[in-house]
Amino acid sequence: MIGQLALKADSGVPKSAVKEVNIAGRSLAAKFDAIDKAGDSGDLAGTKKEFEEMVKLAEILDNYVPKVFACPMKCEGEKTYPAAGKCPKCGMAITQLKSHADHDAKHGGTFFMAPDNKHHLEGTISAKKEFRIYFYDEYTKPIEPGKFTAEGTAWTSGKDVDKPLKMTVGPKKEFLTGQVDEAIAFPIRVKLFIDFKDKEKPQVFDFEFTEPSKEPADTDKDKEEDKEKKHSHG
Ligand SMILES: [Zn+2]
Ligand SMILES: [Zn+2]
Repeated sequence: MIGQLALKADSGVPKSAVKEVNIAGRSLAAKFDAIDKAGDSGDLAGTKKEFEEMVKLAEILDNYVPKVFACPMKCEGEKTYPAAGKCPKCGMAITQLKSHADHDAKHGGTFFMAPDNKHHLEGTISAKKEFRIYFYDEYTKPIEPGKFTAEGTAWTSGKDVDKPLKMTVGPKKEFLTGQVDEAIAFPIRVKLFIDFKDKEKPQVFDFEFTEPSKEPADTDKDKEEDKEKKHSHG
């Protein structure tokens, strides 16, 4: 399995290393079973030994994970680099980003990590009941929905009348969007099946919204508009 992933053109693993990655991957899988067995039999020393070997195997694999660097000041926004260096804007040393370090919602919605451990997504709903799904990579960098498709159902929490929810790609390809049926009221539940087109079955995600999602920027804007007593728009 890991060997197959390593063979992909965009895996970042050089062809010459695919064999090593494959062996390490297989051995790692076997270690899980060995640790399980040693643990079950109460063999503490054995468990520790297996665990240490497992860490070494994981380190071999980690060497081949593509690295991602960016300026800590975010001078270039979401721009990233594959190797260490200096930020062309401020000259600071760019630092390696950690995957899965950021699981915060960006649009005031509900944030999930997909079961593939790679994609993240966020569901939001507006006062007019437009439901959106934003996608992110493992560094929580926004990605276009691309080939992803999604469909599901929405219903009022506590009521068992659900309505189909069809999702389409948004106008700027920033998200998938779908209109929740007029008859559905807050608190709104959504069950969505997302197909990541990765040959796996569509993954199911459950959302519950007690009220419309608020963009973090909207909250600031609302305050300013209150101050200036201007009309709101949108
Ligand atoms: Zn910079
Ligand atoms: Zn994550």
